[in-house]
Amino acid sequence: MLVRNTFPYSRLLIFLGGAVLAIAVLHLFSSQIVYRTPQMSPVLFPVMTIFLMIFHILVASFMFMKYLCDKHRLYLMAIACAFGGSAVLMLGTLSSYSEWLMCTSLSNINYNDALIYYFFRNIMMAVLFICSIFLYTLRHRDIHSVRNHIIAITLMVGFTLGILILSWFYSSHHPRINLTIIDNLTRNFTPLWHNYLIGTLITIWCLTLIVMLVITRMRNIFWFSGYFFCAFFIFTLCLLLPADSIAGYSWYKSRLFETTATLFLIFVLLCDVFTLYRVSNNKYQSSYQNSIRDPMTRLFNRSYFYDALTKQMAKVSSASPVSVIVCDLDHFKRINDRYGHLQGDKVIQFVAGVLQDSVRATDVAARIGGEEFALLLTNTHPDAAAEIAERIRKTVSEHDEQSSNQSLPERITISVGVFTATAQEKEIEICVQRADEAMYQAKENGRNRVEIWQN
Ligand code: GH3
Ligand code: MG
Ligand code: MG
Repeated sequence: MLVRNTFPYSRLLIFLGGAVLAIAVLHLFSSQIVYRTPQMSPVLFPVMTIFLMIFHILVASFMFMKYLCDKHRLYLMAIACAFGGSAVLMLGTLSSYSEWLMCTSLSNINYNDALIYYFFRNIMMAVLFICSIFLYTLRHRDIHSVRNHIIAITLMVGFTLGILILSWFYSSHHPRINLTIIDNLTRNFTPLWHNYLIGTLITIWCLTLIVMLVITRMRNIFWFSGYFFCAFFIFTLCLLLPADSIAGYSWYKSRLFETTATLFLIFVLLCDVFTLYRVSNNKYQSSYQNSIRDPMTRLFNRSYFYDALTKQMAKVSSASPVSVIVCDLDHFKRINDRYGHLQGDKVIQFVAGVLQDSVRATDVAARIGGEEFALLLTNTHPDAAAEIAERIRKTVSEHDEQSSNQSLPERITISVGVFTATAQEKEIEICVQRADEAMYQAKENGRNRVEIWQN
């Protein structure tokens, strides 16, 4: 059947609704703060930048570690480079605010440098995001050799370093190469910013968002955080579009939006870590259960039975004895010969169910051989153990084809041996051996019986 892979428009609506709501709330919130605080603290912007830088370092480290855990996710390295490079460029922004530590009015700010770092940061992040999306499409392809990863990572790190070097050259650090996108004295943007650069940034973020939406098709919340990132950048750049000068609060808003988008991404990454923890814990639990249980009856297996017996034997006393019951089906070979192995299996499963229902949750019911079972009853005196053994024998022998829902092709019986340890035994095998001896005694005495081991 041909399955048409249609675009998930309902998810797109959720994203658009969420983005509009988040932008409206953040915009109103920041406008209210501006309205109530006409004079912003001069250190506010550098402090916001420091917080954002720390968050970006966190995201970059997260992505890098996630890639180390799962080498098929090469696309995460592109995001790690984007956030790592962004953090370094924010260091450049901070250096433009050279007096920010003094908490005085900041008169000597190099706005041009700060804007150059901002411009290159946007270009670098958008390009690396697109690169990450394309690597994401290749995650299941057979391209994951060490050599290919080294080449891809070298290219991505090289691109990031290239952007860092380029922005350093274009800033005031290099006297010959110069780029003026804002006048540091008048604080007015130059036509270069108005006519080309801001438009380029908006276009590249729109392109990134569209590529991300089309290729990742809103598969998971991780990519949703990426869409929010792009949408927030587009919105804050649009706020800057009509501004003639750097005065105003748009830059604060830009930081607030970017910090919110980064925090959302960190939240998504944390959710991912805990989801992975839950999944791996479930897998561990299920493989542990498989290692201690018999696959056919789901009773405990022989080795678990002996481990449990060893633990119980360390605590045994006359006041708190441990009883071992060994059961073996009578003439079981005949059932196999007459009705086949499949029917024989059903009989074994039926008896296992009876045994499981006859013991407490703290006891251990195990299949220790083909049609041999053992029970470990903690804190059980000989009389109580004999009573349980007799109850099991009776229950098994009373069932027929009908009452067992076709599990038994005919009535069957079992022979049971019981041994109770009231003092610690040096070798735990002795306990099973004695219960086994009692069971063989039951066989010799005519089967369908319970025998208690006698000294
Ligand atoms: P007794 O009363 O002396 O115990 O007679 P018996 O026929 O039960 O004794 P024996 O030990 O000779 O036969 C046990 C049979 O159990 C032999 C083996 O083919 C069968 N058996 C062991 N494991 C399985 C199993 O997992 N499924 C089935 N269907 N049969 C099994
Ligand atoms: Mg048997
Ligand atoms: Mg047997």
